[in-house]
Amino acid sequence: MCGIVGYIGDKNCVPIIIEGLKRLEYRGYDSAGIGIINGKECKVIKTKGKVSELEKLVYKEKLESNLGIGHTRWATHGEPSTVNAHPHLNKDKTLFLIHNGIIENYLSLKKGLLKEGYEFLSETDTEVLAHLIDHYLKLKHSLFQAVRYALNEVEGTYGIAVIYKGEPDKIIAARKGSPLVLGIGDNENFVASDVNALIAHTKKVVYLEDGEIAEVYKDKFETKTVADETIIKEIHQVDMKIDELSKGGFAHYMLKEIMDQPESIYNSMRGRLVYDEGVPKLGGLQGFEERIINSRRIILAACGTSWHAALVGEYMIEQFAGKAVEVEYASEMRYRNPIIDKDDTVIFISQSGETADTLAAMKEAKKKGALCIGICNVVGSTIARESDAGVYIHAGPEIGVASTKAFTSQIVVLALITLLLARKRNLSLPEGQDIIKHMKKLTEKVDSILKQNDYIKSIAEKYVNSKNFLYLGRGYNFPVALEGALKLKEISYIHAEGYPAAEMKHGPIALIDDNMPVVFIATKDSVYDKVISNIQEVRARKGRILAIVNEGDDQIETMVDHVIKVPKTHNMLTPILTVVPLQLLAYHIAVMKGLNVDQPRNLAKSVTVE
Ligand code: GLU
Repeated sequence: MCGIVGYIGDKNCVPIIIEGLKRLEYRGYDSAGIGIINGKECKVIKTKGKVSELEKLVYKEKLESNLGIGHTRWATHGEPSTVNAHPHLNKDKTLFLIHNGIIENYLSLKKGLLKEGYEFLSETDTEVLAHLIDHYLKLKHSLFQAVRYALNEVEGTYGIAVIYKGEPDKIIAARKGSPLVLGIGDNENFVASDVNALIAHTKKVVYLEDGEIAEVYKDKFETKTVADETIIKEIHQVDMKIDELSKGGFAHYMLKEIMDQPESIYNSMRGRLVYDEGVPKLGGLQGFEERIINSRRIILAACGTSWHAALVGEYMIEQFAGKAVEVEYASEMRYRNPIIDKDDTVIFISQSGETADTLAAMKEAKKKGALCIGICNVVGSTIARESDAGVYIHAGPEIGVASTKAFTSQIVVLALITLLLARKRNLSLPEGQDIIKHMKKLTEKVDSILKQNDYIKSIAEKYVNSKNFLYLGRGYNFPVALEGALKLKEISYIHAEGYPAAEMKHGPIALIDDNMPVVFIATKDSVYDKVISNIQEVRARKGRILAIVNEGDDQIETMVDHVIKVPKTHNMLTPILTVVPLQLLAYHIAVMKGLNVDQPRNLAKSVTVE
């Protein structure tokens, strides 16, 4: 969470930082700030609200400098307000610091600093670090050393950038648990929490690892560990185009990303399907196949939407590869002392590859000797780099806070892994080829669902004033029910719950009356007849029913208020199709309510705090 951008070079840093912050705004958007240092002045401008608010203030002041840092915040400590916005300053207003993460021991550090006479203006944990660095500067240490000493006292997580009037030729950047990259330009260098902020300027990046600190000048950079060991960092080339980050003519990133799905799904399997052998080719797992197959069980760990994809993965792997699978919330797994050892394979799923809980769970599993596999979207992200092996989903940048195309691509990759394992065990060649055939048809099938956009919008109009929703599905469609409910909650703020359809009678049925919309995901599979009985149970209690059914199904149509039809596919691939109308339904309801679907209240993408 939170966006960090820093610039040092010959250009005016202000437009570069503002533009970079706009590209990172999906990471946090409750307040923003910029700090610049040039020969004559040190200046900070902060405001509550979005980067566009900051931009107005910055241009009114005609701010100009070759050195600056900017931040867009997602508050953890202290409400979103101008004073709590970053940068935070030392007392002389000569040192500026921006921070992503949480300083967990900030209260005890604060106590010590208060005794020394330091005064605090904000409620944030971050301000402690600005004063602590100042404390070491006053002891005549260089900025680099002062930051290093301060970080040695910090417990918790940070991605930071610091500038100081006393040493105006550098930015100090460091990370532990929160992502940070350096952008290497021509006589100019950058610091950012995400490569998205850099690619308009440079494709050369250096990924800082946990416990590393960099001294970034305009024409060079040096790196050490916080424990003072010198390290040499590799420069990576990023393969991303700037137009991948635009809305491409759509009103919102979310709509663009929903509409991107035929292409993103295709990209997730491109070059990976070997029809003749009925197997996938997954370079990132090469050499690990036997260990995965022979592992005692497979654990899928994730958070949010990725956790729903993991549930689909569980159904697939158990059914076709015949391996015991468990699905874990990464946030629970990390603290539960789970029984994991070298005989287990743990697959971590995270769109950003930076999800703090998932990363921490991975570190725990690694410590216990398990084989750790990452399924990530962002190339070069921490989970991708630190896992033993992995598969990228290649969905392209996902900017909308509510995940859409990453979900369908995660399921595609889980299907590929299932196929890989199943074929090595007992799935026959024709069965393997059948799955591949169905996978290849997914893009045109998703396309045909997207063509119903106007129809789905007309259905959304009928439900826009509802206060609650139930989403019900069984088998492969149970995780889709959870995901459909989550999408609606996230962007429309309507209370929605997903349940296995059969569980309804064990409680939620009490909620059903003629005001309660119930969304059934009821495709023709082995539990179809059972779901029909569940539909009847809701109908008997006058619930309003919207059903997602297969093309050619005219039975359910007669029992419910509205249907949306999706093509048939292989059973295990069904969620890739059934979730699409639910994404569009949530999107249209939220837009009709006048809400900002790309930046929903209280949420942020890439959850890099616990
Ligand atoms: N913990 C810090 C704060 O609340 C940083 C939040 C962020 O990552 O944006 O200000």
